[in-house]
Parts: sequence; C-alpha cells; structure tokens
Amino acid sequence: MIMKERIAPEAIELSHEEIKRYSRHLIMPEVGMEGQRRLKAGKVLLVGTGGLGSPLGMYLAAAGVGRIGLVDYDTVSESNLQRQIIHGTKDIGRPKLESARERMLDINPYIQIDTYEVPLTSDNALDILEPYDVIVDGTDNFPTRYLVNDACVLLGKPNVYGSIFRFEGQASVFAAEEGPCYRCLFPEPPPPGLVPSCAEGGVLGVLPGTIGTIQATETVKLLLGIGESLVGRLLLYDALAMSFDFVKLRKNPACPVCGEQPTLTELIDYEQFCGVPAHDTSEFASEVAGTVPQIGVQEVKERIDRGDEFILLDVREPHEWEIADISAATHHIPKGQILEHLGELDTARDIVVYCKSGGRSADVVHTLREHGYTRVKNMVGGITAWAKQVDPSLPTY
Ligand SMILES: [Zn+2]
Repeated sequence: MIMKERIAPEAIELSHEEIKRYSRHLIMPEVGMEGQRRLKAGKVLLVGTGGLGSPLGMYLAAAGVGRIGLVDYDTVSESNLQRQIIHGTKDIGRPKLESARERMLDINPYIQIDTYEVPLTSDNALDILEPYDVIVDGTDNFPTRYLVNDACVLLGKPNVYGSIFRFEGQASVFAAEEGPCYRCLFPEPPPPGLVPSCAEGGVLGVLPGTIGTIQATETVKLLLGIGESLVGRLLLYDALAMSFDFVKLRKNPACPVCGEQPTLTELIDYEQFCGVPAHDTSEFASEVAGTVPQIGVQEVKERIDRGDEFILLDVREPHEWEIADISAATHHIPKGQILEHLGELDTARDIVVYCKSGGRSADVVHTLREHGYTRVKNMVGGITAWAKQVDPSLPTY
C-alpha cells in the first residue's frame, strides 16, 4: 500500500517505556514491532484542531504516530466544547494549538508535535504539507477543502477526508495515484450559501467523534500499510438512522487536477473559486451583507426608546426565539417563509430586520427590496451584537 515504500522504519528504536505503552499493539501480528516502528516513523498533518481534529489528535498521539503537525489559528470558545473534546473549559480564550498540543503531549510525551498557527493558504500550503506522509482534512469550509485536495494531488500525498453536518457525516481517502480525488467527486463547489456550515445549521456533538475516529483509523492503516482503505469509496454515515453506506468512487479522467490532462498545475485563489471566505467564524457569510442598507444596534435601541413606530422583524427560526429574543420585536417570520408573509409587512413603514449575526437578515433585506420595500434596513451583527452592546442579560449562542 501507499506508505510501504516511503518510510524506513528499521532505523527507528522503541524504548522499554514505549514497548510497555504500546503493548496492546505489539501483541497483534498485524502491527507488532515493525508496525509500531512505522507509526513512530509516520508523519501526519492535521488541518484543523476542531471537531474532527479533536479525536484525530488524541488517537493519533495515543497510537504513537511519531510526528504530528497541527494547523489552526483559532482560539477556544465556549461553543466549541460541545464537540471539540481536545479542549477544556480552562482553555477558553487560549489558542487551540496550545491546548491541543498540551493535551496530546499529556497523552503521549514520546511524540513530536509541530504547530502552524496560520490560516492554510495557497501561498503556504505546499510548504506546510510537504514534510508529511499523510494529510488529514478536518476543515469545515469549501475553499480550504479544495486547497487541501489540490495541494495533496500536486504533492502526491494521500488526503484523509471527513466532513460533518447536523446528523450526517462523510469520509474517504483521496489518493490520486490510485484513486479519485475530491475534485473527481465534486468538480465544482456548491453555489455560495446553498450548503450551510455547522455554525449555521448545527452539528450533533458526538458526530465529529465518529467521523474523526474513522479518519484516525484510516490514517493508522495507511501508515501501517494494512487493511482495505477508503480509497475509491465514500462512506456516508447517518447518525439518526444509525446507518453506514458506501458509494463507489471512480477517478475522473477529465479531472482538472488529477486527470489525464490536468489544467490545474498550481494552487489557485480558492475563495474566489468557491465564492465564499475560507476562514469564516460563527458569523453567517452573506453575499449581499455589504450591499444592503444597514443600521447599528445602538441606533435601533435609541429608536425604540424614542417610541418610533417601526417594524422590528426577527427572521430566525422558532427554536432560536426560545434561546433569546428581543422583546421589542414586532414580527417573527423565519427567513424561508418571508415571501408567504409579505402581506403582514407594510411597505410604507420603516422595517429593521435582524437574525443571529446579520447574514440571513441581509438576505431578507435584499429580498424585500426586490419586492418594492424601500424603507428596510439590516441590523448589523444581529441579536448577538444586541446582547453584547445593548442588553447583556440576553444569552448568546
Ligand atoms: Zn481528481
């Protein structure tokens, strides 16, 4: 398999402490001393130390993968802890790389951890990926996913892929020499805004545990050169149905990066290719956000205090109203139902629209303007900005 030719594990020694630590591996003939030396000689890069990166980092450290690189530049926040189990409550506000590194070295001090506290970009990706045998994609956005894929194809490295959303996950191993790459499967990114991120649509906390652990399993198998990998197969996992399905994947001979006549021979601008920013936070990305009239939360508060007559329209989903609500809101209409409820909104009145953080509401402002509403504005930053700047008694989510 892939790794066998690449590494020379004979030179690697295991100390008595390591032999004791890895005894449950060593007594399996499929691993044994030779396999454990392969793991120690193995070099794996994890892109992201979030939901998928958490079980990946911990299991690969525990398994004795000798050198693990981590790429992330985010800090730990409270809303990460529901699934990102490599980080703890004491780590809130710390760089994720720091807390991930600390946890992994606590699990196994006999490994080397390299940290790259930068966004992965077209300028640095080839340099960062180059030293590693296996690249594991634990990212949550399309630009970085295409970037990781193309860089892996150009460097000839296997790309252990995983993605998660709500109750569903996917995993595969893209290894362009033998099988398809991510672009063979998805030649074009989805239209911006069509596929919501976990920050927008939510994710079951244990889901990245399942998918990240499958990615860790595939990584260990690649390093050991054993078993049947997910090369050429896409695993589809549905947590609600508790079902695992497999789709056969074929290499696309016309693939622009791994096909017979590749047109893509260097890294491109992936944000432009996907039409979305690569490094979104919990904010919604809206294409129209900067182009519609807007109003700040303080100004909205002043208008309410003055007794101004205007429509304050909440376009979040009903389960979000349960979490927190602005008491002065006059209308609650989820974004997807806005066109059916135009009759409730008077074009002659001022309308201020808000959502969680300003993305969905910008889209609604855009839609309303297309339907003849001229006195409509987007409340910048949504109820999150309201909770921070106007009413700290409201919870944020
Ligand atoms: Zn391809």
